[in-house]
Amino acid sequence: MTYSIYMPAKCFWGNGCVCENSSALDLGKNCLIVTGKNSAKLSGALGDAIEALKKEDVSYGIFDGIGENPLISACHKAGEAAREIGADFILGIGGGSVLDASKAIAIYASNSELSPIDIYKREYKNKALPVALIGTTAGTGSEVTAVAVLTNDETGIKKSISGPDCYAAVSFCDPKYTHSMSYKTTVSTALDAFAHAIEGFFTQKCDGPLRLFAEKCIPKLYSCLEILSQTDTVPDEIREKLYYASIYAGLVINTCGTAFPHPLGYVLTENYGVPHGMACAAFFAPFVDRCAEFAPEKFANFCKMTDEIGKVKAVISSLTDLGGAVIGKENAKKFALRWQSVIPRNFTASPGGLTMEEAEKILSEI
Ligand code: NAP
Ligand code: ZN
Repeated sequence: MTYSIYMPAKCFWGNGCVCENSSALDLGKNCLIVTGKNSAKLSGALGDAIEALKKEDVSYGIFDGIGENPLISACHKAGEAAREIGADFILGIGGGSVLDASKAIAIYASNSELSPIDIYKREYKNKALPVALIGTTAGTGSEVTAVAVLTNDETGIKKSISGPDCYAAVSFCDPKYTHSMSYKTTVSTALDAFAHAIEGFFTQKCDGPLRLFAEKCIPKLYSCLEILSQTDTVPDEIREKLYYASIYAGLVINTCGTAFPHPLGYVLTENYGVPHGMACAAFFAPFVDRCAEFAPEKFANFCKMTDEIGKVKAVISSLTDLGGAVIGKENAKKFALRWQSVIPRNFTASPGGLTMEEAEKILSEI
């Protein structure tokens, strides 16, 4: 077994870590703060960030136009805004959508010749601006991954960019900002973190220290999901566990990648507006069935860390709200065409692999 691990983002963890480590924001004299509509303010993270920037004598502008499943056009526009104010770095505050968008904005900002779609070519002249991130959801792990998932406005398709230029220079991981998340967003983001942990765990690359990260977060996430399945509010005491576990899960996928529930989940998000975590969780049962067949040793370990598989499936299914989405045979055929010429890495990384025909069948059962 050979693997390599590279994760150069400087991470600060813990309550109050933004203000206590304000000197880490000394990435220039001027920055563009990037947010969504409300969460940066609502969570208290924006207030703390402004205090920290003032302490370091860094001036700032704010771009608050990033929506869920960030559009390349919005990121491109924010890149222009960064150039207009002469930003030296980008400070993203929000859930995975804003954190991912910030990585793309940093690339657009320093490369004025790039059109929105050019970001997928992964070729540009100037180095991306440095990026600082403050997470407000406990899900994506974008704080520690070299990935940004963007949506192409023209096709409506979600497609990632990844590489060393997608790492944050610094990430602040303070679970207190996640307390303002609604029950539904908490559940969806927790399901996403769980999907990362198990999809990463079942890839062949997940061994050695990566397996330690996975084995650390799988039981934590599952115990929180079990609690969430029994209530419709979020107990305060699970917030910290969920957030840190989501970062461990991020460390797992950063090296191991995800498996087939992720690309299949994109179909539910793009066509039926299902939130990302719920969309991935919709494929939990067929995924673990294949793991049981093709990776029995890890599967036994997975059940030891969680519960009897029937019970685990019931917990995940009770939390997965697809808002009535029905795919069916005809749509599945159409959606699966995207994998006709290129089988994604996530399919080959899944135990037993996955063909386009198998993906179509799994989709048709939604
Ligand atoms: P999100 O799309 O960032 O946010 C979902 C909703 O939650 C938004 O309405 C947001 O509001 C709100 N919200 C966020 N934090 C909140 C808080 N503390 N309090 C109240 N509301 C809050 O959700 P996400 O699940 O974190 O990110 C999903 C995106 O990340 C998807 O595009 C997915 O594909 C991507 N992803 C990336 C990676 C990676 O490695 N980079 C991994 C997995 C998934 P506002 O609009 O007001 O901010
Ligand atoms: Zn995900």
